Amino acid sequence: MSIGENIIRFKQQLGKGATLVAVSKYSLLESVKEAYEAGHRDFGENKAQDLTTRQAEMPDDARWHFIGHLQRNKVKYIAPYIHLIHSVDSMRLLEEIDKQAAKCERTINCLLQMHIASEESKFGLDEAELTELLSSPDLPALTHIHIEGLMGMATNTTNQEIITKEFAGLKRIFDGLSQGHLPANVEMKTLSMGMSSDYEQAVAQGSTMVRIGSAIFNG
Ligand SMILES: *Cc1c(COP(=O)(O)O)cnc(C)c1O
Repeated sequence: MSIGENIIRFKQQLGKGATLVAVSKYSLLESVKEAYEAGHRDFGENKAQDLTTRQAEMPDDARWHFIGHLQRNKVKYIAPYIHLIHSVDSMRLLEEIDKQAAKCERTINCLLQMHIASEESKFGLDEAELTELLSSPDLPALTHIHIEGLMGMATNTTNQEIITKEFAGLKRIFDGLSQGHLPANVEMKTLSMGMSSDYEQAVAQGSTMVRIGSAIFNG
């Protein structure tokens, strides 16, 4: 199937429940344009400089999602246009995003990345770190960021039970926070979980945003 057909099929399958972010990090510009021509606007990339090049090559109404590990010294490249940063996992990074957003006179939307997988290598906060960050007295002063939810990646395994359990755990944390008191610049409305190999489990567990690359661009 073509990229355009894949986009349309995924959108039909997801319906209104979950937003599709087309992860274009391994794809040629031509392929991204094909997805755009099929009406798609949300794209995800994981390298700040590649993303900035690509953003300049694509129409202005494309929405760019940053999904990879973000170094503080790269925030300035993406601050002028980024739509949502999925991978915030420290107060120091949040402070840098706030500073660069202020320079651009913008508010930047962020998700806090949670470590839910069993692999050591994946970035993200554990529950104690999340609690600490959200209760930091410095957080409310960051008026140019808006935390709108959480992101997590499940263990890279074919064991469906493990994947489902990890996504369910993240959803439980998300729901717990939604019901509690949150600072003015924090909201729990977006739960970014699910990739090509595990989006069905993620959606079943309450994902509101899936990040799909290979199943669209090589599928
Ligand atoms: C690459 C990547 C994806 C997409 O992965 P696919 O398996 O190609 O769908 C999703 N999320 C993150 C954080 C990624 O780095």
